Amino acid sequence: MLGTYAVLGQLLLMSRIVWLERAIGLDRLAVWHRWTGFATVWLLVGHVVFTTVGYAQGDRISLWAQTRDFVSHYPDVLMAWVGFAMFIAVGVTSVQIARRKLQRQTWYFIHLYAYLAIALTFAHQLAVGTDFSSDRAARAWWIVLYLATFGSILWWRVIEPWRLNLRHDLRVHSVKREAAGVVSIQVRGRDLDLIDAQPGQFFLWRFITPTGWFQAHPFSLSAAPRNNRLRITVKNLGDHSARLQRIRPGVRVLAEGPYGTFTAERRTRRRVLLIAGGIGITPLRALLETFGPDDDVVLLYRVATADDTVFGDELRQFAGARNIRIHVIAGNEIGDDRTDLLGVPAMRRGVPDIATRDCFVCGPPALLDALKRRLALLGVPRHQIHYERFQL
Ligand SMILES: Cc1cc2nc3c(=O)[nH]c(=O)nc-3n(C[C@H](O)[C@H](O)[C@H](O)COP(=O)(O)OP(=O)(O)OC[C@H]3O[C@@H](n4cnc5c(N)ncnc54)[C@H](O)[C@@H]3O)c2cc1C
Repeated sequence: MLGTYAVLGQLLLMSRIVWLERAIGLDRLAVWHRWTGFATVWLLVGHVVFTTVGYAQGDRISLWAQTRDFVSHYPDVLMAWVGFAMFIAVGVTSVQIARRKLQRQTWYFIHLYAYLAIALTFAHQLAVGTDFSSDRAARAWWIVLYLATFGSILWWRVIEPWRLNLRHDLRVHSVKREAAGVVSIQVRGRDLDLIDAQPGQFFLWRFITPTGWFQAHPFSLSAAPRNNRLRITVKNLGDHSARLQRIRPGVRVLAEGPYGTFTAERRTRRRVLLIAGGIGITPLRALLETFGPDDDVVLLYRVATADDTVFGDELRQFAGARNIRIHVIAGNEIGDDRTDLLGVPAMRRGVPDIATRDCFVCGPPALLDALKRRLALLGVPRHQIHYERFQL
């Protein structure tokens, strides 16, 4: 039963319920989903092992004979075994070592088998579960639990995105090269102010081309939404982002969102430090639009080489028009905490009042982990550190 509660809870964590996402953030929900997932698999393994061993000992037969007995004489248990094998496959392909070897799309499609696994294991719970077979109230509760979970998924992951896309009719408007392997894509649509997307948030984007329609990828807004336009800026980091470099105006786009809590609402201070690693500049560039003349803003922007700087002209305009200091730091290697260009002494020298600032950090996971540690060493309280990890 705990295994089932965990499975359903896990589905709810990824069901995109809007208030849950706003309160916690999709990235953190994804981490919780991951760990609940492993707990689920272990609970289900425990269920199978202890039930089989217990029954085998009671009947004084071998484990193999007991398994055959379950499968051939207990209603719906064969189906449950198939579902269990699928859960194991989903669990195994989600451990780090397997994830590194598998393409994300392959992992994702295997992951979808979890839905089938849940469906296959459902019937045996009611048919042979001692808690349910003679208790109508318990059966009703169990069915309502499943219906509520799948209803949430249907509503938030299918109906809501479908309504949004029908209402706004999104299409690629224009594509602009920003730097080598980086393009900005303007998406146009109807009544986009109704979406209420904030700078710093992201959408899951699906570009309806023969090779792209089946994949939804997260990209942050790289400018505040205006004039019925949404802008994203995409770096070529793999197959899909490479294809987006050549996307044509007019292509239909399906978006799901807005998601994320990396917004100006998180601010607690007038002084702000923004730190971007590479393409992590995108949500920070959008956030720059939320600051007023009284705000004191510093942007540290790390790029591999000066030529990789994205939004150079736009950043200069912000620096000219508002109280925003911008430092572009060239050098890709993340060194140690003391010698790195974004290390503890360097940041203390560059931003002496760092502990009094809200810090918004975005970039690749390795840089983010290093920066979280360094900001703590610099005395920045945890509640002043806000980050967006470009990894779900
Ligand atoms: C919240 C968020 C915001 C992001 N914003 C931007 C942005 O503004 N600009 C930008 O260039 N990149 C952004 N990214 C990263 C971008 O999503 C990936 O670079 C892109 O999906 C890579 O896909 P690919 O097929 O080209 O590369 P792959 O080689 O398939 O993957 C490269 C990396 O991206 C991850 N990735 C691939 N597909 C997905 C997916 N469907 N969902 C989540 N992660 C995936 C992989 O795990 C891997 O770490 C963001 C990621 C997240 C999580």
